[in-house]
Amino acid sequence: MNNPLSKMKIIESIIPPPPYHWVGNGFKVNGIFPEGINSEKRMSPFFLLDYNAKTEFAPSEKPRGVGVHPHRGFETVTIAYKGKVEHHDSKGNHGVIGEGDVQWMTAGSGILHKEYHEKEFSKKGGVFQMVQLWVNLPAKYKMTTPKYQPITYNTFGKYNLPDNNGILNVIAGKFKDIAGPAYTFSPINVYDIKLNKSVALKIELPENYNTGILMIEGNSIINEQNVLENNFILFKNSGTKILFNALTNCTFLVLSGEPIDEPIAAHGPFLMNTDEEIQNAIDDYYTGKFGNLED
Ligand code: MN
Repeated sequence: MNNPLSKMKIIESIIPPPPYHWVGNGFKVNGIFPEGINSEKRMSPFFLLDYNAKTEFAPSEKPRGVGVHPHRGFETVTIAYKGKVEHHDSKGNHGVIGEGDVQWMTAGSGILHKEYHEKEFSKKGGVFQMVQLWVNLPAKYKMTTPKYQPITYNTFGKYNLPDNNGILNVIAGKFKDIAGPAYTFSPINVYDIKLNKSVALKIELPENYNTGILMIEGNSIINEQNVLENNFILFKNSGTKILFNALTNCTFLVLSGEPIDEPIAAHGPFLMNTDEEIQNAIDDYYTGKFGNLED
């Protein structure tokens, strides 16, 4: 940290949100990646980033969302920024992801779940903003036992900037000596950073880690380029330093991880290494090996 000889991370591209699509009837998402960067490996170990930018939902008695579906071979990480997400899975887990909170679900060998707007939020309606990340698992952990980590905002590792100028929340990995609460299967840093207008912050992340930042709120200069709300900035694997200069009050989602150098076989809700493993996942799903969950 703070090595004076370290270099700024070079920007590879700044990606505006691709056209949205619906996941069920509750999640209006921009496929930031792999769609937006046209690569399944460029952000490895992160495979997918679906971003529901701020969207106003009308009140609904029947919660909007996505019904029962399977996953195998990776982790789904849901971050609720505005509104609340409710969730049930075939292992008997049920929870509500409140504003600012995270759910880190390891699908591993296979799970069924459903995801929808929390009942009371749905009844009242309002602004909804959410991220879902798919984090790949190394081959040796793809069939690990499914599990579920509910991670609330108050348990994030906290680095407070002087004079209440902002906060760097460590969700996973480390910042300086501050560790995040998420258990991960490969080296990953996930930060939620909030900066007040005109505040600057410098961080360092390893050169070989694939690194990108989603602008959740506000506009900022990042390594000398202006990045607008809802845009994603992707860095080359060159340099370590990232310098933020917030032009407005800002919220950033920072993703950085050691690439998993293994083949990818992706099909719908399954993320494996070979086509044969994908076929096994499909067979296991249709023969009931993922368990049971009522719609
Ligand atoms: Mn899902």
